[in-house]
Amino acid sequence: MTLTVFFSAPAVWEEYRTLLPQLLADAGIDADVVIDAPDPAIVDYIIYAPSAPLQDFTPFTNCKAVLSLWAGVERIVGNQTLTQPLCRMVDNSLTEGMVEWVVGHALRHHLGMDRHIINPDHVWDATCPPLARERKVAMLGMGALGSACAQALAALNFRVVGWSRTDKKVTPGIPGYHGAEGLESALRNADIVVTLLPKTPETENLLNAERLAMLKPGAFILNPGRGPLIDDEALIAALDSGQVGHATLDVFRIEPLPQDHPFWSHPGVTVTPHIAADTRATGAAKVLVENIKRGEAGLPLLHVVDRVFGY
Ligand code: NAP
Repeated sequence: MTLTVFFSAPAVWEEYRTLLPQLLADAGIDADVVIDAPDPAIVDYIIYAPSAPLQDFTPFTNCKAVLSLWAGVERIVGNQTLTQPLCRMVDNSLTEGMVEWVVGHALRHHLGMDRHIINPDHVWDATCPPLARERKVAMLGMGALGSACAQALAALNFRVVGWSRTDKKVTPGIPGYHGAEGLESALRNADIVVTLLPKTPETENLLNAERLAMLKPGAFILNPGRGPLIDDEALIAALDSGQVGHATLDVFRIEPLPQDHPFWSHPGVTVTPHIAADTRATGAAKVLVENIKRGEAGLPLLHVVDRVFGY
């Protein structure tokens, strides 16, 4: 039987149009990969980007799973017409990209690189930065991305602590806190906070004025998770008061970040345009094919989104 795989992400179709059929054939799966689905009822799997036009899944009456190209699924997880299993993207190249972004920006702030890179008055400031072992890093979110970033920073001797929803022992040597009661222990006196949480009703505005006040004065924030994790106004107030030394932000409530948003001009903010970790076709296509293979073999799908928790 020939499967029909509907690729509902026109913006990146060119990257997948030969790769996916090839990998499916290599896996022994007979499949047509199509960008148009004139008869939705024949579609077996949907490959999906939450930015794609498809919003009504009702006509896809025989679809076995929706496979997202994105790790973050907040735009689709509440879609009432989507009744099939929804899988999100977990892929090594996505993780590698995130680790590089987080480690690079953490080291920038830890070492105070800006003082030497932008030094028009040729100031001979020989203040040495502390060692990484003297810096506490709070990793909010210890999932696929957060735990990899935590391990990379711990390997550089940062004093990393993790925070997640459930009690999990991720890595020896990285203390883990969880739940509302564990958040203060994770944040208290942190020098660097990294937010790698999904956007859900529970995580929105998580870093508010009260929590920013728990950090060590002058702390650095790295947010490659989602814009709404941080209360924008509270962050600007904390930057203005010096409670937060600098915020490097990759994600925003509105993207592209509007030209008149105060983040663009604030000297304590670095804006990167949602580039921390991209889904690369070569890695992602293998993950998609593995899930189709599992679906056809009757095995549990990988990276299934929990609709109750929203991630
Ligand atoms: P993941 O594997 O699902 O991990 C999510 C983590 O957040 C888990 O540790 C989870 O706790 C924790 N969490 C969720 N809700 C929580 C709550 N209410 N309280 C405390 N902890 C909570 O996700 P991931 O693959 O690491 O991705 C994380 C996020 O990164 C994505 O959702 C997306 O928004 C963002 N992202 C950004 C980019 C970019 O380019 N900027 C790229 C990819 C992804 P448990 O471990 O207990 O479940």
